[in-house]
Amino acid sequence: MSLPQRLVILGSTGSIGTSTLDVVARHPHRFAVHALTANRNVDKLFRQCQAFRPALAIMGEAQAAAQLHARLRAAKLRTQVSSGVDALCEAARSGECDTVVAAIVGAAGLLPTFTAAQAGKKILLANKEALVMSGALFMRAVRTSAAVLLPVDSEHNAIFQCLPRASGSNLGVERLILTASGGPFRTRPVATLDDVTPDQACAHPNWAMGRKISVDAATMINKGLEVIEAHWLFDMPAERIDVLIHPQSIIHSMVVYSDQSVLAQLGNPDMRTPIAHALAYPERIASGVTPLNLAQIATLTFELPDMARFPCLHLACEVIRDGGGASVILNAANEVAVEAFLAGRIRFTAIERVIGETLQRVPVVEAQCIEDVLEMDRRARVLAHEAIRR
Ligand code: NAD
Ligand code: MG
Repeated sequence: MSLPQRLVILGSTGSIGTSTLDVVARHPHRFAVHALTANRNVDKLFRQCQAFRPALAIMGEAQAAAQLHARLRAAKLRTQVSSGVDALCEAARSGECDTVVAAIVGAAGLLPTFTAAQAGKKILLANKEALVMSGALFMRAVRTSAAVLLPVDSEHNAIFQCLPRASGSNLGVERLILTASGGPFRTRPVATLDDVTPDQACAHPNWAMGRKISVDAATMINKGLEVIEAHWLFDMPAERIDVLIHPQSIIHSMVVYSDQSVLAQLGNPDMRTPIAHALAYPERIASGVTPLNLAQIATLTFELPDMARFPCLHLACEVIRDGGGASVILNAANEVAVEAFLAGRIRFTAIERVIGETLQRVPVVEAQCIEDVLEMDRRARVLAHEAIRR
C-alpha cells in the first residue's frame, strides 16, 4: 500500500478547512495531517489537533499560539505550535508536506499559497483571492516548479473535470460557462438593498460558507473574482468566459466545445465533492455527500445576471477587461469594504462605492514580483479605508 499523502491545511478551522477534514477523516489510511492552521480560533484548532494529531499547529498571532500550546500540553499532545505568516510559509514549503490545502480567506493566504507554488507542491486551491491578486506570477511559479494546481472552488473544479482529459489543455474548447446561484438577493426589490443586514447577506440559499465569501456571493463580486480565477487557471481569455445564473446550484459549471457539445458537472451543493475530487485526483473517493436526486429536484433554471442589481459584478467585469494589476485593487477594496459591512460600519450598497472610488484613485502597476503585488494591495487598503471614512 502506498504511503499516506501528507497534508498542510491552511485555514483548517474555516468552512473549507472543516469540510476538508471531514473528507480526510473518512480515509485515515490515505491521508496524514502534517499541519493545521487558524487565525484566532484556539478552541477549534485545539479540537482538530486532538482528532488529527498533526505535527504542527500554526496560529495567526503569538498570544493565541501560547494559549493553544498550553492546552495541548495539558492534554499531553505533542503538536508543535508556532505563529505568523513566516511559519505558514515554512509549513507550505516543508519537506514533510506533499499537499497544501489553500483555504485561508483573502489576501492573508497569498504568501503561503505562493510559497507552496514555488516549492512545487500539490496545491488544492480554495483561496481564489491569491490567484486574483497574483495570477501571472502565480501561474509562472507553478510552471517553473512543476507544482500541481487543482481547483477546489466548485465552478473551477467542475470545469477542470469537464476539460479534455481533465488536463488543463484547451483543445477544441470554445467557451467556459460559470454558473452562479445569484445569492440571497437575486429577487429582492433593488430599492430595499440599502437596508439589508450582515446576517441577511450571509444567509446563502444553497451553500454554507464563511462570512466574507457569503457577502461576495450576495454582491456577486464572487463571480467576477471567479472569472479572473478561471482566466488564469485555464488560460482562457475573459471574453470567452460567461456567467449564467442557475439558482438551484446543481450544475457547477460547463465547458462548451467547438462542435457545440456542452459538458457539465452536476452534484448537490456541498464542497466535500470538489474537495474529495482534488484530494484523491486522479482517483475517486467517497466524500460523504448526499447522492443527487434529479427526479426530486425536477427543475433546473437559468437566467442572465442583471448588472444593475449586481454593480460589483459589473465593476469586476470592467477590471477584467483592463487586465492585470487592477484586480489587486478590486480585491483589496472589496475585502476592506466587506469587513466594514460585516462590522456594521457601512451599508451593503456602499460596498460598490468603496470599490469604485478605490479603483479610480490607486494607480495600476504591472507587478514584476510578489512584493509589487503586496505594495499595491497595501495602497488600495489605505484608500479604501479613506473612502469608508468619507
Ligand atoms: P472561513 O472564513 O470559513 O475560513 C477562513 C480560514 O482562514 C479560517 O481557518 C481562519 O482562521 C483563517 N484565516 C482568516 N484570516 C486569516 C489570517 N489573517 N491569517 C491566517 N489565517 C487566517 O472561509 P471559507 O468560507 O472557508 O473560505 C476560505 C477560502 O475558500 C476563501 O478564499 C473563499 O473564497 C474560498 N472558497 C470557499 C468556499 C466555501 O464554500 N466556503 C467555496 C469556494 C471557495
Ligand atoms: Mg465558487
